[in-house]
Amino acid sequence: MANVRGRRMLVRCAQCGRSVPRGKAVTFEKGVSYSTDLRNPAEDIKYFERMKVYYCPSCGKHLHIYDKKKAQMMRKYNK
Ligand SMILES: [Zn+2]
Repeated sequence: MANVRGRRMLVRCAQCGRSVPRGKAVTFEKGVSYSTDLRNPAEDIKYFERMKVYYCPSCGKHLHIYDKKKAQMMRKYNK
């Protein structure tokens, strides 16, 4: 399926489940923290992981991510 033309690089929107081409999708880095044992702070191991989440343009706009990315791109090109 990966080599079929026009079907490659499809990602699922995390909000609505719609499949979007990766070029059009809005990427958002989400920080997730895990901890093993909260009762024993001395032996508690905490992880912090960055998850990459994809959204379709409409969801990105709804979640106010798309506008931010657009502004970043505009800033980049105006320099
Ligand atoms: Zn969506």
